[in-house]
Amino acid sequence: MPILSALQPITHPIFTQHKITVQVKRDDHIHQIISGNKWRKLKYNLRYAKSIGAQGVITFGGCFSNHIHACAFACQQQQLPVIGIIRGEEHNQDNYTLAWAKHWGMQLSFVDRKTYRLRSEDSYLQELQQQYPNHFIIPEGGSNALALTGVAEVMNELKLQSEFDTMITPVGSGGTLAGLIIGDQSQHNLLGIAVLKQQGYLEDEVKALLPPSDNDQQNWRIAHQFHRGGYAKFSAQDAEEIRHFSDIVGIDFEPVYSGKMILALLELIKSGYFPAYHRIVLLHTGGLQGLAGMFERGLLNPAQWPALPVPPVQ
Ligand SMILES: *Cc1c(COP(=O)(O)O)cnc(C)c1O
Repeated sequence: MPILSALQPITHPIFTQHKITVQVKRDDHIHQIISGNKWRKLKYNLRYAKSIGAQGVITFGGCFSNHIHACAFACQQQQLPVIGIIRGEEHNQDNYTLAWAKHWGMQLSFVDRKTYRLRSEDSYLQELQQQYPNHFIIPEGGSNALALTGVAEVMNELKLQSEFDTMITPVGSGGTLAGLIIGDQSQHNLLGIAVLKQQGYLEDEVKALLPPSDNDQQNWRIAHQFHRGGYAKFSAQDAEEIRHFSDIVGIDFEPVYSGKMILALLELIKSGYFPAYHRIVLLHTGGLQGLAGMFERGLLNPAQWPALPVPPVQ
């Protein structure tokens, strides 16, 4: 099994002060376009779709979705036609993420919020399947059993790369954390940082994704105090702190997922959560394309953040 991403040590005065070592698993560098966990999650899904001779793929996401962006590109590479069912917000239909998705050939189907809410209901999925026979349906964010197998490989790679005590990852749908739990087999502490304001449900969602054989793993937990008010919410000060951290360590993070993990890391270290000589690995889940949507909505100043590939002309 090839190692897809490097493990990079980083230094910061706070780490030195608390005698903590931190390394970053650079999944953001797996690929120039499909970064981070979305590639891990798509890998076996697309392989499976090909193996059953699927005519195409159907998946779901919002207008700024990293998954939609990654899935569109990956399906183009695999020559698999793909339909993206997009939670419709008319004014966002030509945004950066969707412009690229269309460019790579994804057929976009906009649905209202009410319809979008049905995305994991059996009856709705059966209807979709009848409408598009021979299509393989991948859930929102790519989170299904096949995705977990891909994410679990992070742990196989780390076994060859370094010893450590705690791995930290941002948590959205929970698929990534569930994959890490399967791959780790209770060898380390796994700490998920919730980026959504959902409190207790996330643990149940992670458990629901785990196979029965891994359902009693006890080495993981989710911290719920770092979501900053909800998904994609953050203050100007949070954004500045993330930028400042990036400048010090030389790695870019964005404020929706990986940046919230950074804010959590800093607060936890300051509060004495990790004992001296603790060895931490941060999973950089990528997702920098999501910055474009923040620029478009005036939520971040592009001059202060990394430049993104220029969007295609429609
Ligand atoms: C989707 C995503 C996550 C969350 O992954 P889940 O498997 O949904 O928990 C984290 N980071 C980035 C950059 C993402 O795009």
